[in-house]
This record gives sequence, C-alpha cells and structure tokens, in this order.
Amino acid sequence: YASLAEADPQVAEAVGAELRRQQSTLEMIASENFAPTSVLEAQGSVLTNKYAEGYPGRRYYGGCEYVDVTEQLAIDRATELFGAEHANVQPHSGAQANTAVYFALLQHGDTILGLDLAHGGHLTHGMRLNYSGKVLNVVPYHVRADDGRVDMDEVASLAAEHRPKMIVAGWSAYPRQLDFAAFREIADSVGALLMVDMAHFAGLVAAGLHPSPVPHADIVTTTTHKTLGGPRGGLILSREEYGKKINSAVFPGMQGGPLEHVIAAKAVALKIAGSDEFRARQSRTVEGAKILAERLLAEDSAKAGVKVLTGGTDVHLVLVDLVDSELTGRDAEDRLHDIGITVNRNAVPNDPRPPMVTSGLRIGTPALATRGFTTEDFAEVADVIALALQPSFDRDALAARVKTLADRHPLYPNL
Ligand code: PLP
Repeated sequence: YASLAEADPQVAEAVGAELRRQQSTLEMIASENFAPTSVLEAQGSVLTNKYAEGYPGRRYYGGCEYVDVTEQLAIDRATELFGAEHANVQPHSGAQANTAVYFALLQHGDTILGLDLAHGGHLTHGMRLNYSGKVLNVVPYHVRADDGRVDMDEVASLAAEHRPKMIVAGWSAYPRQLDFAAFREIADSVGALLMVDMAHFAGLVAAGLHPSPVPHADIVTTTTHKTLGGPRGGLILSREEYGKKINSAVFPGMQGGPLEHVIAAKAVALKIAGSDEFRARQSRTVEGAKILAERLLAEDSAKAGVKVLTGGTDVHLVLVDLVDSELTGRDAEDRLHDIGITVNRNAVPNDPRPPMVTSGLRIGTPALATRGFTTEDFAEVADVIALALQPSFDRDALAARVKTLADRHPLYPNL
C-alpha cells in the first residue's frame, strides 16, 4: 500500500511535472480539457480492480453489484442529457466507439461517405491506414474551396453515385456547425444510415449551444473528454432498434472487461454536464473562440491580421491559415509553445506543406474556459497569439503576459 511517490518515484516525478506543466501554461489544444477533481477521483478509484464483462444486471462475473450502479447511472444520464433512446458507455475511446458502430452495422467492403481527413475529418471516418479505411470502401467528401464549408452538394451527388450504406458526419478540425437535417435527407434519399460523430462538440450540444444531432441520426458517437470535460473515453448513443447490435459489437465483439473506473467517471461528468455551471462554461468556450477569431483577423498598428479559415467560428475552435505565411504550422506551434501556449499544428484543406509540417494551427478554448477564463482573458490570449505570429515578436514580453494569465486562474490548487 505504498504511495506512488514511494513505490515509483520516477513515475511520480513525471506526473508531478505534467501537473506543473498544465498549471503554468495555457492549454489550447481543441480536443483537450481539464477533468474536474471529482472525475479524477472516480477514475482513480478501486473500481479499476473490477472485472465486469457484460452489461448492468447481465454480467459474466460475480461482485458486480456496485459497478452495476455506476454504469447504470452513466447510461441513464447519457440518454437523459442527450435525449437518446439507447446508450453504450463502455467504449474505451472515441475510435473504439466508431469502430464498434461499423462492426455492428456494416460488412467489410460496404461503402461509407466521410469527411476527408485533410479537410477536417477524423482518422476513423475512413483514413486509408485506419481500420475504417482498410475494411470499408470509403468515399470522402470535402469542404468548398471558396468558403471552407462542407460541400453538401458534393455529399448529395456522391451519395447518389455511390449509394453508401452509411454517411458519417462529424469532424476533428472544422469551425462551423453541420446541417444534420440536410445529412438526414441525403441519407434517406439513398437508404443510408446516418452516423454523427459529435466527439468535438458534444459539450456544446449538452449545453444547448449547438444543434443536437440526436433527432436526425441513427447513431451518435462521442468522446467524453473533449468539450464534455470528462475522463478519456467513448460513448455511443442510438435509436433503440440498434441498441442490441451495438452492445454486442462493443462486448464481446471488440472489447473484454469494461473500464468501470472510467465509466464511473463518465457518470460524474454526465451529471456535471447537466448543470448551470457547465452551461456557463460552454458559453464562455464558444464566446472565447469567437473573440479569438475576431482578434486574430483584426489588423492594427502593431500587427497584420492573421487569416482564419471560414472567416470565424461557431464552435470551440479556430483554424489559423498559414498558407500564405512564411511561418509553417510547425514553426507557429513551436513559437507558441515557447511562450507557454500549447496548440497543435493542423493541415488546412489542400495544404501545400507536408503533414508533419502543415500550414495551419488548430486553437481551442475548452480547457481555458474550464480554468475560468473570461471574455477579457480570451481577448488578451488572442492578442498574445496574434503578436506571436508576426514576422518578429518580443518573446519575453509575450511569455510574461502568458504567465500573468496562468497565475490569474490557478488550476488544480488542491493537487
Ligand atoms: N472522433 C473525432 C471526431 C475525434 O476528433 C476523435 C479524437 O480526436 C475521435 C473520434 C477519437 O477519439 P479517441 O482519441 O478517444 O480515440
């Protein structure tokens, strides 16, 4: 029963250093967030010891009476929060959730439509090296060259031409809302299933700040750790008619024992996601992203405007377009890292630079909103980023401004 520091000082030291990194820098990776201590507590609990293959009330192991409680809470809260008929809370990750849906409802060789990775889609939407791209016949759709929005005319014509079994709507790097009703109409016109992967924007949906895909889609998948702010993991919502097939695809199809400690943490996060505090936080998230886009675009005497894809945002992230800049995505990521802001470089549609370099940045506001950032704080962050992306900049002055912001909003003061 030794503590971590006693049992393994090397791991303890790295964990401590990671905590200090999170506390002292500004986390702006759009897919990241800070899980509340209640979530960390559930995830670090003795539930990690428990085998519980099966589902609540139908397990293949004894002693599941308490994990049945936590898993049923997670299921009930997920269906209630999103107004869904069925929930499976067991996928270990978002990728597992998507793969389980394909496994449940498609056959190898079936055709799906998915947003091209290079245009903002996710690996599991059919990238050639991903399981989805290897076993399914993937027809990618794209964003329009002129305004960067998903080309629904292309989706309709590809659907008519290829008659997919499933259309996948959702994204990892796209700053606008999708038209779920239009996707539904296209899916119906060719008898396809519609899956929406709301991994990125699930928190906004829960808060009522983004249209819900649930009334339109046959299946909705999500991660629980992005805007939703819970533990790392996946979740599948569906119409009741697909529930049995999905449950069986997750277990025993793809996974063995569920991570009951993570599922308990998902239950906690889903409870929090129904609170007024959570809604206020999501609202600061979206507001912060809008401020970021506006101030990056603005030109003044101190700086030239920074280009932003689609000219703004409706969600929790902004995509910076560096195609015409001397700075590459990698340079920009490094520069911001050097002053204490963590973002990730990101390919823009038709990116002329290679994938390890790229010509874009993806900058998100969820983690800072969780940290308590206000609209004024986001304006200051935006100005710091805009100045850091100019040809010349005062590194030390910007690093000091970042430190002031980090100090203003202490993170995990009790850890
Ligand atoms: N779906 C989308 C849209 C994502 O952006 C991501 C993660 O980046 C995933 C699925 C996969 O989630 P995970 O990393 O938990 O497998």
